[in-house]
Amino acid sequence: DAEGEAETPGAADPSAILGTDRVADPVRATRHARRVREEAIGAAAERFYAEPPQIERGWGALLIDTQGRAYVDLVNNVTAIGHAHPVFADRIARQLHLLNTNSRFLYDAFAEFTARLVAHSPDPSLDTVIPVNSGSEAVDLALTLARVATGRRDVIAVRESYHGWTSAADAVSTSAFDNPHAADSRPDWVHLVDAPNAYRGRHRGPDAGAAYAREVADLARSLADEGRPAGAFICEPVLGNAGGVIPPAGYLTAVADAVRAHGGLVIADEVQVGYGRLGSSFWGSTMQGLVPDIVSVAKAAGNAYPLGAVITRREIVDALAREGTFFSSAGGTPASAVAGSAILDIIDAEGLQQNAARVGGIIAEEVRALMPRHPLIGAVHGTGLYLGIELVRDRETLEPAREEATRVCDLLLGHGFIVQAASERQNVLKVKPPLVLTEVDARRFVAALDAVLGALRD
Ligand code: PLP
Repeated sequence: DAEGEAETPGAADPSAILGTDRVADPVRATRHARRVREEAIGAAAERFYAEPPQIERGWGALLIDTQGRAYVDLVNNVTAIGHAHPVFADRIARQLHLLNTNSRFLYDAFAEFTARLVAHSPDPSLDTVIPVNSGSEAVDLALTLARVATGRRDVIAVRESYHGWTSAADAVSTSAFDNPHAADSRPDWVHLVDAPNAYRGRHRGPDAGAAYAREVADLARSLADEGRPAGAFICEPVLGNAGGVIPPAGYLTAVADAVRAHGGLVIADEVQVGYGRLGSSFWGSTMQGLVPDIVSVAKAAGNAYPLGAVITRREIVDALAREGTFFSSAGGTPASAVAGSAILDIIDAEGLQQNAARVGGIIAEEVRALMPRHPLIGAVHGTGLYLGIELVRDRETLEPAREEATRVCDLLLGHGFIVQAASERQNVLKVKPPLVLTEVDARRFVAALDAVLGALRD
């Protein structure tokens, strides 16, 4: 769509950005990638769409398939700065030509990235960054740090959460959607509390936050009474897998107080929500008034380049360092460190957090305005460009409109919008695009959603 393309920041001629001089053999590479995907993860891809598009290239918030069709990418929370950002690509390429090595050596790129991330840290007390390669690894390391620093093994985690597929991250993940086997193998050190969802769930209304927090406080106390106080509480500051639900105000700070009262630490998993996506704040924890002890980041941190990090206090890292060597061979290599710095520079220079607030605000407001006409829309969760449009068959019973959500995604694909129906109940349209999404594309998305919901009703 020429209108949408022209509006995308940084959008020039895509072939100028992704020309054959940059990629050795893009056609062969794409064919190979397609074959690998068909053989290995075809079933997973088809989970979302009857006919998943075969994506070949992208720029800004657009993805272009092998037929040359352009889609607005509304699901790619892995990218903050958008696809094929030329500054990002050039800076990594320059570093790759110069040096890329085991992160054991000293090089400026490492110091620069860690300093840049500390400068964005949720709190001055969180002054130490350990780069890793993914969100799962960041969560595993965060749990290890908390358990070593406190000398305790028990962890309190929130149901309906996904924190990764490495062993400790998997243990604290409860999402049936992402890991159907987690419950069978849950280790005894994991203790689960309900997702603080005031829209659906056991506690609703204005007192829901206090009621959910009381459950965590009771659990923290009973674990302490049993002589096994929790070393950590881990939570996404905005509940990603539960559908982009913002915990009730005061919940996280009350929980942090309760866990800390028994000597535990608070881990904020910012892998999805951090890096400006929420618009009003760079971090979910800041938005909730929480100063965590340990933060895990990834996804946007690397813009799909493998980079994650843990941000924490020096003394927490020192506690682990005293136990012996700990080290990630490829965490924060020169190229990934340059990627990490470039992303932070671009988010700041292009005002992408502000764009998330503005464009996300337009989507939320306009979708809410559709609610009188489309009873299928039960609620719009989230904020900024981290939204969950929850579809229900009945606004009283909140029966999840799961099949309808899948159908809506398929129809939206026909309109050129890539959206996924996810959440534990798979009835939430997740809107988490690159933060470069334009107002034009945002309004076109709402118009397409209006048309699709209308077609579904008729
Ligand atoms: N934490 C959260 C909140 C996530 O959403 C994810 C991935 O979806 C992870 C951790 C794991 O990150 P990765 O896929 O980079 O291992």
